[in-house]
Amino acid sequence: MSVVMSSVSDEALFELLGKHGLPVTLARVAVLRVIAQVEPHHLTTEQLCAAMVNLDEGLGFSTFRTAVYDLATAGVVDRVVIPHGKRGRTLLYELAGKPTHRHLYCQLCQRIEEVFDAELEARIAARFAQIGFKPATIDYALPGLRASCAAVAPGSCCGTTRTGYLSGGLDR
Ligand SMILES: [Zn+2]
Ligand SMILES: [Zn+2]
Repeated sequence: MSVVMSSVSDEALFELLGKHGLPVTLARVAVLRVIAQVEPHHLTTEQLCAAMVNLDEGLGFSTFRTAVYDLATAGVVDRVVIPHGKRGRTLLYELAGKPTHRHLYCQLCQRIEEVFDAELEARIAARFAQIGFKPATIDYALPGLRASCAAVAPGSCCGTTRTGYLSGGLDR
């Protein structure tokens, strides 16, 4: 994973915690610092914990896990679920507060693509309201293949088997 540091001030993170009614703790700030400053912004629990071990704040693994859980429950970070069919799922975390967006997950290179489409979201929201359905805030990524990966994926040489690979990939 490429790691690029960008600048997000600690003050902004304290403010974010305050806004969600969470007291500032060393572990919570450490988790937010990692999510806010590391590219890509979608991190697994393992990636988060590895990054936090590197920070070496002298805090235990379970303290971090609890902090991640508290932040997700309070809505400071959002969870993105990546389904792997029968092999279970992976949870990714990102800072909450972005405009509503979808996640496309490439099953080959495991990259996440964000799709922001306000018009589409408004249509979906209006339709759900009409039906009388309030979707949970949990977000499921859409698995598939990026064009460049589809070109090199097994069974995709003739184009005709590409869909077969996609649907098969989910259940493997
Ligand atoms: Zn890919
Ligand atoms: Zn996202």
